[in-house]
Amino acid sequence: MIAVLLGAPGSGKGTQAMRLSSRLGLAHVATGDMLRRAVADGTELGRKAKAIMESGGLVSDDVVLGLIRERTSEKDCASGFLLDGFPRTVGQAEGLDRMLSDRRLAVDVAVNLEVNEDRVVERMLKRAQIEGRADDSPETIRQRIRVYREKTAPLAAWYAGRGLLSNIDGEGSIEAVGERIEESLRDRGVWAPVEAR
Ligand code: AMP
Repeated sequence: MIAVLLGAPGSGKGTQAMRLSSRLGLAHVATGDMLRRAVADGTELGRKAKAIMESGGLVSDDVVLGLIRERTSEKDCASGFLLDGFPRTVGQAEGLDRMLSDRRLAVDVAVNLEVNEDRVVERMLKRAQIEGRADDSPETIRQRIRVYREKTAPLAAWYAGRGLLSNIDGEGSIEAVGERIEESLRDRGVWAPVEAR
């Protein structure tokens, strides 16, 4: 199973990704986490990514696709993975498709978390206080939302055109949203929790 989780920054993607990946026994692959680790480790990639991330922009498609290619070749991804924060552009989605089809694989579902924009800003400001993320400042939040609207939001239509999109109401409690995702994956016939195997 290969699943993609789409949604604005602050839509609850990371939280739902953690839940879902453990329920389904999938590796949780989050490009934002991988990039933040590279920055913390001071690798060459981290040095290049740091300023881009702090300004709320996107790291280049080539760089991110390279990260994904390596990460999804690791052993824990062999029985499936959940992509969180990737793809973020149509170019990345196309690159992902090519990479997977070379491996005789394909995306099974794209879950799109829909959350009101004011709520997104609210959640990110709250997260800034809790986690102290450098890119959760008010100006950067605005920029990240602009970038999301322009570059990432079109992916919903892209996946819908391929018959892979599940739109999920992302408002409400973590459990309520999680249950909606589960129901939608059941409807699609791609719900295979670990305990059922
Ligand atoms: P996230 O934790 O997913 O919100 O990502 C934090 C930041 O990392 C983003 O604002 C981007 O600067 C960068 N980033 C994460 N994933 C990607 C991606 N797929 N493509 C480009 N940049 C990314």
